[in-house]
Amino acid sequence: MFEEERQKMVKMQIMRRGLCEPRLLAAFETVPRHLFVPEGERHLAYSDGPLPIGFGQTISQPFIVAFMTNLLKLSGEERVLEVGTGSGYQAAILSQLAKEVYTIELVPELAARAEKVLAGYENVHCRAGDGSLGWPEAAPFDGIIVTAAAPDTPQPLLEQLKDGGLLVIPVGVRGYQDLEVWTRNGNEFDYRRELGVAFVPLRGKEGW
Ligand code: SAH
Repeated sequence: MFEEERQKMVKMQIMRRGLCEPRLLAAFETVPRHLFVPEGERHLAYSDGPLPIGFGQTISQPFIVAFMTNLLKLSGEERVLEVGTGSGYQAAILSQLAKEVYTIELVPELAARAEKVLAGYENVHCRAGDGSLGWPEAAPFDGIIVTAAAPDTPQPLLEQLKDGGLLVIPVGVRGYQDLEVWTRNGNEFDYRRELGVAFVPLRGKEGW
């Protein structure tokens, strides 16, 4: 079910916008996005935009998930942290591309729902809690991806990167942010800016 829609999504929304890495495309062809959206939204699961998932939160547009995932340059050997599990879709995509995925969600109901949907993804570890502080017990990580917008890059997340590790995070004001890519070199941290994006706010101790 939905296979045709899924292939069309990969071709029209991801490949045509310039993302062509075969492993990345395979992940999007494999993960059934419709199982991660609320039942009433399933017919829109493969459309070219974000969708509501309850509690005022959204599942990101497929292209944005692909774009951010691509920035992590995963080869399959990495340990990755996602902050903001939401629907669990981004975590499922990461599970196809990294070795271990740790994902943390602040809203307990969303965390519980995602954990259920992700039950078959054995390399995904779920937790309910404040991800603006990272997941210290599972650190360090080769990659960290934050799928909510931060006013500033949280220091605990930078500290939980391995040497050479990458952090992808939207940073800015409410309603508009730049996607930043941070790299750790020893105790130095450099960043560059990628696209402009609009994410729901990161809450918690290091958020809003
Ligand atoms: N990656 C998700 C989309 C996330 S929407 C997906 O694939 O569906 C952003 C999510 O971040 C929301 O579910 C929100 O509740 C969560 N969030 C906000 N602040 C957080 C925090 N401090 N720690 C963990 N999750 C947080």
